[in-house]
Amino acid sequence: MSKRHALIIGAGIGGLSTAAALERIGWSVAIYERAPASPRSGAGIVLAPNALAVLEQLGAAGKVRNRGARVGCAEILRQDGRPITAVPVQQQAQRYGTYSYLIHRETLQSVLAGQLERTAVHYGKQLVDLYQQGNEVTAVFADGTSACGQLLIGADGIHSAVRRKLPAAALPAGGDALRYAGFTALRGICTLGNLPYSSEEGGGFEAWGSGLRFGLSHLGEGRVFWFAALNAEAGGQHSPSSAKAALLARVQNWYEPVAQAVSATPEAVLLQHDIYDRAPLRCWSFGSVTLLGDAAHPMLPNLGQGGAQALEDAAQLAACLRERPGDVPAALAAYEAARIPRTSRIVRQSRRMGRVAQLENRLAVSLRNSVLRAMPSPLQLQQLDWLIGYRPAEFQEHLR
Ligand SMILES: Cc1cc2nc3c(=O)[nH]c(=O)nc-3n(C[C@H](O)[C@H](O)[C@H](O)COP(=O)(O)OP(=O)(O)OC[C@H]3O[C@@H](n4cnc5c(N)ncnc54)[C@H](O)[C@@H]3O)c2cc1C
Repeated sequence: MSKRHALIIGAGIGGLSTAAALERIGWSVAIYERAPASPRSGAGIVLAPNALAVLEQLGAAGKVRNRGARVGCAEILRQDGRPITAVPVQQQAQRYGTYSYLIHRETLQSVLAGQLERTAVHYGKQLVDLYQQGNEVTAVFADGTSACGQLLIGADGIHSAVRRKLPAAALPAGGDALRYAGFTALRGICTLGNLPYSSEEGGGFEAWGSGLRFGLSHLGEGRVFWFAALNAEAGGQHSPSSAKAALLARVQNWYEPVAQAVSATPEAVLLQHDIYDRAPLRCWSFGSVTLLGDAAHPMLPNLGQGGAQALEDAAQLAACLRERPGDVPAALAAYEAARIPRTSRIVRQSRRMGRVAQLENRLAVSLRNSVLRAMPSPLQLQQLDWLIGYRPAEFQEHLR
């Protein structure tokens, strides 16, 4: 076995992109995924310019643009379709050299998997334990097998088993419990004619009501993706047919494509998830083990940045390992020092954004809409610059 062998736990966006980045700096990598096979379901995911900058380094940005849909329009509307504001997507595209793209998660993961040259993805491998001895780390799986390397990366999502192994000093002061967002998300994919947004332009709208937000956008390959963020008690899961009926009842008099999109969505592809995050950690690493993506910084989806931050993590981790060959703990210390402040800020900002977007009080909703309407495009651009205009770390020699 190579003396630079990494074990990655989880084959999501974080695990796959990290494997691709580590391969490019000369590490050998193996991914261990609990699921029996690569995913066959999922929904749309927006990739902002900061995410595309990492995909560019991985050689995957062109494929994402071909198979996804550019976001050429992003309006924020009242529930009846009257405009509140529009995200200045053209100016953003000019400033950052790319539009944002919406793509099916399954497609994104298959594009990332296609970038792997030497890494095997081992399915049906659930990590249940890990231990370290000297410079070696061993992962133990539920089927009784184990694997060993010089680095273990927990890219195992919001319920991370690797995160549970962190020392107590790493945890937030108030504990590490899941924090409910106050809303549940319904997502669907369908085909829909007569949209007011052409598929060439791409994009769509978000309609903001009281305690209910509905977004719809072209997904590429002839499909439309929609989501509804609905204020609700945690745990009130319904069957797909009752969730669909309840949502249809709520959006009866909304802007026309809303009810149409929900009606046109087969129940079999309807997803419902209560939405959670966790408070930011103080540190992510211990010895030769670290966290990445949702395992490190699960965030509410209100800024559409969870996947993008996993990609940024992957680039930063590869850059730090490349700069400190032979000293994994030092590389991990540099990695988390670079990443924790930014991802913690996004976790907090996503929470704040959720409170504003999910307001219920009609007076507060009307005040919010007036403030948004009055905000000029240059200010909107400036407010998002730190987020989507961020230049991720470069990890390949020829890009420096
Ligand atoms: C409603 C919603 C909308 C979103 N929209 C966007 C968006 O528009 N843009 C964006 O950038 N982000 C978005 N996100 C966030 C994004 O989906 C996540 O941040 C991203 O998928 C995190 O990737 P990950 O690889 O870190 O974790 P995951 O995708 O959760 O992958 C973790 C993997 O680890 C595996 N695993 C778990 N435990 C184990 C174990 N013990 N052993 C082995 N394997 C294990 C899991 O099966 C899974 O495959 C959204 C999230 C939600 C909920």
